[in-house]
Amino acid sequence: MTEKLYEKDAYIKEFTARVLDCKPCERGFAVTLDKTAFFPEGGGQAGDKGIIDDINVFDTRIENGVIYHYTDKPLNVGATITGKIDFDRRFGFMQNHTGEHIVSGIAHKLYGVNNVGFHLGEDIVTLDFDRELTREQLDEIERLANSKVWQNLPVTAYYPIDEELNNTDYRSKKEIDGAVRLVEIKDTDICACCAPHVKSTGEIGLIKLLDTERMRGGIRIALKCGAFALDDYQLKYKNISQISALLSAKQENAAEVVKKLDEKYTLEKQKTNELKKKIAELTIAVADENTRCLFIDDCDVKDLQLIADKLHKKHGGIRGAFSGSGESFAFAICGEDNELQQFFKKFKSELTVRGGGRGGMMQGTVIATKENIKLFF
Ligand SMILES: [Zn+2]
Repeated sequence: MTEKLYEKDAYIKEFTARVLDCKPCERGFAVTLDKTAFFPEGGGQAGDKGIIDDINVFDTRIENGVIYHYTDKPLNVGATITGKIDFDRRFGFMQNHTGEHIVSGIAHKLYGVNNVGFHLGEDIVTLDFDRELTREQLDEIERLANSKVWQNLPVTAYYPIDEELNNTDYRSKKEIDGAVRLVEIKDTDICACCAPHVKSTGEIGLIKLLDTERMRGGIRIALKCGAFALDDYQLKYKNISQISALLSAKQENAAEVVKKLDEKYTLEKQKTNELKKKIAELTIAVADENTRCLFIDDCDVKDLQLIADKLHKKHGGIRGAFSGSGESFAFAICGEDNELQQFFKKFKSELTVRGGGRGGMMQGTVIATKENIKLFF
């Protein structure tokens, strides 16, 4: 059994240990030690990374009670090594993880919701509650959670004796086999958990609840703490200040101004579409029998189909409508089906054409100049 140094002290960055075993595996080498500060993936938290001597440890996992350090290169069995964990990464996890305990504990106390899922990614945490919460409720949870940070409350972890455990009201995400380790945040929460946490809530720095999504009758909440929350704030501040400068609006009014702009844009788009329709109608009206194909700006396939169809109905024969520029045009061509099939075959063989169709209508794109297309028609 490997002695779990991270359980006694979550702040050990460097330690010496003896190599018990080293086996090649699919991912490199699986190394076991007599003791370790590397936390293996568990309780929703990713496994630690770091180095053993100068060999890279890219993951740590626990399987059937055995802690495996996954390395790029082998280590000598029996050797004494120095392990160093990537503590910046781990500390970020500890901040996020402890923040999650506070949020889940408060949400449980205030609204009776249970945490039924937790994932601690490289820079974001998501937690799942079994019931939905409103934004107002989340705001309240967030405010209270941060007040727990400002109070700088102690966080302790311990293995209680059975009687003590039976008399303790604690949260638990799943049935735990083996000894139950409790993580207690003073006056806030007690939860069964195997991972390392910060020793006082002040170290979390800041707790920010972000996006939510509905999940099987409950809610999934994204959460950032500490340095992750600060990075997020900096990014968002940069964005909102650019947006407000572009809009010449105060930051707090930016959303309202964008909403008005969007409404204006929708109106303008409608007007443009109506104008496009009028231009197409006028172009068709002045087209005579000799107009085999028409070129109209800014038309999509549906517009082109409509124009080609109208031209065909007015003058008969094969009629085409094109929209584009340079040597690239979208098109729709209308005619009696048999005649059109023959025409299209030739069109495809003489110009670079992609597309097809049926029932007297062909559409697609062609790589050719306006002159060449006209010449062909
Ligand atoms: Zn935990």
